[in-house]
Amino acid sequence: MIFSVLTLFPGIFESPLSESIIKKATDKGAISFNIINIRDFAEDIHRTCDDSPYGGGPGMVMKVEPIYKAMKHVEDTLGKPKFVLLTPQGKPFDQFTAERFSKLSHICFVCGRYEGVDERVLQFVDEEISVGDYVLSGGEFPALVLIDAISRCIPGVLGNEESVTSESFKEPLLEYPQYTRPDTFMGMEVPSILLSGNHEEIRKWRRKEAIRKTILKRSDLLNGFEPGKEDSKLMREVMEEIPE
Ligand code: SAH
Repeated sequence: MIFSVLTLFPGIFESPLSESIIKKATDKGAISFNIINIRDFAEDIHRTCDDSPYGGGPGMVMKVEPIYKAMKHVEDTLGKPKFVLLTPQGKPFDQFTAERFSKLSHICFVCGRYEGVDERVLQFVDEEISVGDYVLSGGEFPALVLIDAISRCIPGVLGNEESVTSESFKEPLLEYPQYTRPDTFMGMEVPSILLSGNHEEIRKWRRKEAIRKTILKRSDLLNGFEPGKEDSKLMREVMEEIPE
């Protein structure tokens, strides 16, 4: 999968894309990056990419022409990607969107800066995505968040494929609690069932604790949860165990 990125600050991507899982996936050839400086597509000798807003008001707005030209360049050199604008006004990003995007062969992120992009850019993008209800100074960190979440859905990127399938949000459930050595720390013990070697009991315990965590921390997720017979029983048990 190719990730193209249109940005005024390409340097932001250097270190995050050259470490750990993303680096390994790039070395393996599972993903590749095409980071484009929008400034290279500015029209005047000062390479201006922003201007003051029509109608007045604070700050600067990113101009439409350099962004359009940069998009056209990406399309002409690598074929048509899905164009995604990062914006706090977009659809909230989630695991389902990460999985949907991971099936694409080429995605191109458009990163805004300043007060955002000229509204006419929206005519050329396929989707608008937000990383949450807060305002950042640019779309670069949101693009990195998407790159990370999407990459780990691509087969072969994570060493252990199972870690994707059991993680939080795969179903509308949080992941079960995890422990590693030592088995006692400051008097806190690892649940004995995890040391028992009984795989069926461990599976059931994990399922129940995933349900417990979700009820206690993110009960909103349960609106989308369709419990089977076992889950319904575990849910009842958890509810009975939660103190009033
Ligand atoms: N004035 C705009 C915000 C501009 S923030 C407004 O009120 O809607 C500058 C840029 O940062 C945006 O163009 C966008 O690319 C990026 N950005 C800021 N917050 C974001 C968020 N929550 N999700 C995705 N992108 C965001």
